[in-house]
Amino acid sequence: MGIPEYIHRHGFRRWYERQLIESHAYLTLAFVALILLASGIEVLADSTGFNYFAMLFAAALGGTLMLVAWRRFTVLLARAEQFAESATCASCRSWGEFRVLGQESTVEGDPPESGRPRWLRVRCTRCGNEWRIG
Ligand SMILES: [Zn+2]
Repeated sequence: MGIPEYIHRHGFRRWYERQLIESHAYLTLAFVALILLASGIEVLADSTGFNYFAMLFAAALGGTLMLVAWRRFTVLLARAEQFAESATCASCRSWGEFRVLGQESTVEGDPPESGRPRWLRVRCTRCGNEWRIG
């Protein structure tokens, strides 16, 4: 489900809350992957033969997973904060009460790391004021 559809169905506040939870889940995953990387490197020195390659694979997997999870954490959190900072209607000062009119064009299957859409065109549900968030 895209961001406009999610906000339309559940509201901006819920979308924002979910972004914070999801991004911090990625932060936790990055930390666990970092532990896998560190423990793989630690055990690597004492390993020989098949165990050496198994530990090397585990360390490489941990490192790759940590980078992907960290990237997702930073992108999701940055976008959520960017949208939240500009979610206040300039006319009536209500926060997060709007309908999405449009968004930056996105491609189907965009990974979360792309950070798209970077902006949304919205209309306040209280006063009808229109502005762009993001
Ligand atoms: Zn308003």
